[in-house]
Amino acid sequence: MTTREARCSCGQLRVTCEGEPAIVALCHCRECQRRTGSTYGVAAFFPRKAVVVSGAYVDYERPADSGSRVLHHFCPACGSTVLWEPSRRPELMAVAVGAFADPAFPAPQKVVFEQHRHPWAAVALGG
Ligand SMILES: [Zn+2]
Ligand SMILES: [Zn+2]
Repeated sequence: MTTREARCSCGQLRVTCEGEPAIVALCHCRECQRRTGSTYGVAAFFPRKAVVVSGAYVDYERPADSGSRVLHHFCPACGSTVLWEPSRRPELMAVAVGAFADPAFPAPQKVVFEQHRHPWAAVALGG
């Protein structure tokens, strides 16, 4: 089975993910723009039992546009957001795809919040 590791910038917060993600989604919402400092976020959702977290993290909870809550976990040393818990899908854990730093990571299958997309930020979807 494939095992992949995501980590923060400084490397102390690590997330090991077993198997393939349940879904990979690209999100243009403004919260993802602010979370990443980029113009969109890409999240891989794994079943919770497939995810092992090591290292220290601190939490930031915010409301999602859907009205549910999102609990972000980020590294207290470097500030990278590595994973978060979408309360709307409690069986899943979201991991920031950029934290894998792996160009071979599966491409997003869906794009959401297109209404907030920066006009130049065209994306190609994978299968
Ligand atoms: Zn760090
Ligand atoms: Zn978003």
